[in-house]
Amino acid sequence: MAEHDFDVLVIGAGPGGYVAAIRAAQLGLKTACVESRETLGGTCLNVGCIPSKALLHASELYEEARSGALAKLGVKTQGVSLDLEAVHRHRNEAIDGLTAGIQFLFKKNKVEWLRGAAQLLRPDAVKVGDQVVRAKNIIIATGSSPAALANVPIDQTMIVDSTGALELAAVPEHLVVIGGGVIGLELGSVWRRLGARVTVVEYADQILPGMDGDVRAEAAKIFKRQGMTLMTGVKVAGAQVEAAGVALMLEPAAGGAATRLEADRVLVSVGRKANVEGLGLEALGLSLNAQGRLDVDHQFKTAVPGVWAIGDVIAGPMLAHKAEDEGVAVAEIIAGLPGLVNHEVIPSVVYTTPEIAGVGLTEDQAKARGAVKVGKFPMLANSRAKTNKEPEGFVKVIADAASDQVLGVWIIAHPAGTMIAQAAQAMEFGATSEDIAYTCHAHPTHSEAVKEAAMSVRGKAIHV
Ligand code: FAD
Ligand code: NAD
Repeated sequence: MAEHDFDVLVIGAGPGGYVAAIRAAQLGLKTACVESRETLGGTCLNVGCIPSKALLHASELYEEARSGALAKLGVKTQGVSLDLEAVHRHRNEAIDGLTAGIQFLFKKNKVEWLRGAAQLLRPDAVKVGDQVVRAKNIIIATGSSPAALANVPIDQTMIVDSTGALELAAVPEHLVVIGGGVIGLELGSVWRRLGARVTVVEYADQILPGMDGDVRAEAAKIFKRQGMTLMTGVKVAGAQVEAAGVALMLEPAAGGAATRLEADRVLVSVGRKANVEGLGLEALGLSLNAQGRLDVDHQFKTAVPGVWAIGDVIAGPMLAHKAEDEGVAVAEIIAGLPGLVNHEVIPSVVYTTPEIAGVGLTEDQAKARGAVKVGKFPMLANSRAKTNKEPEGFVKVIADAASDQVLGVWIIAHPAGTMIAQAAQAMEFGATSEDIAYTCHAHPTHSEAVKEAAMSVRGKAIHV
């Protein structure tokens, strides 16, 4: 230890890095975490998961009150109005509370926070400000930032990325979202609920890349019904900021004549790129893969011994819970324990209304591996969803035709993000659809739809 200041030095205090640091310290390793932001928690707590959910919750309540949805349940409201400043205060309070919570956990677990940007010098040495810190193990958890489009430059006023879209000071009359992925649909939905007209411009021929085909098609129908305009198969050829707003030039992705689309504000949400600039990877001889991310083995080791990487900066879905699980696993591996992450079973959730969630393979992916059986159950036939007037969506269970093992579960339902947890757990335990079908589910819950979809894999659903 003498020549090292720390056993473990983590670069980045997002969900990957802060969790790795806390777990390493819990395991008795002397640990520090370098973070260049003013607060801990990374993208997720500062400009990602948490602020976006604060906005979406407030916007859902506003829409329920304003649209008459509450009145249909007998809850009358009068003079419903939006105090956007208060909504932003609520968002900031949520961020402040949770980022302070991580600082408290660092203190509690004796993780030292080194403030500043880290630059790798050697496999066991990092520069932070004027200081050189030496550690036996270095974990790179530098996360990701919004990807840009060269011809639609972000100014965070008229043309914003996800961070700017969380902070709009007024509800735009017309918000154009470039990219029909998770961020575009979540934040687009937030501003639609708050009163904006929203147009989504998507390059591919469908929204929600990577999700099951049925889910993508049904989600598009739901968003259109809610009033969003979805333009698929369209590319943005250029953007011009004008006095009244932004003029976008659109072209069919397949080629053809350009058209003009006017917007008050534009959100660019076309994916994210790994944060590696200025990190000093070249000093260690580490290079990036074709996706611009770091390659690691199944134990999160980079090509340089003693240097590890986790979270958005490595392969896989850019999700907070994936980063967190990798954080726990890498710390345990460094401590000599068998740290594990099952990358086959990582749920993903789109927090729209209704929510959209999935875990495991899509039907097409499963079919490419062999014969499957599929069970589907509509939320319309679920007593709780129907009673709550939340009839949209379905649960779809995909199982191996021979072994009945569950290969994937896809859900559109108001609480799909909560419902998907049981599917992930069942799949982690290698469950068959029959295992889920014969598990007693509490009544009346939305989760009974998961049981019924599992029952229908073998044609036995009761309520349809
Ligand atoms: P990050 O959270 O990006 O953290 C990396 C940290 O490293 C940053 O704080 C950065 O400042 C710091 N850093 C970088 N380089 C250096 C350096 N050289 N020195 C010091 N510090 C450095 N995921 C979900 O699972 N659920 C959601 O609901 C969800 N919602 C999202 C909503 C939005 C709007 C966005 C943008 C993202 C959302 N995500 C969500 C994705 C999620 O935020 C990321 O997957 C997650 O934060 C990745 O964690 P990480 O630890 O790998 O990196
Ligand atoms: P995304 O990859 O989900 O979607 C980007 C979309 O933009 C795709 O549909 C893509 O086809 C489209 N696109 C790409 N280039 C385009 C172009 N030039 N013109 C028009 N469309 C174009 O990316 P995102 O929505 O920016 O989100 C980034 C990441 O953040 C995601 O990978 C996601 O994992 C994470 N995230 C997760 C959550 C969540 O878990 N609920 C929420 C927000 C963000």
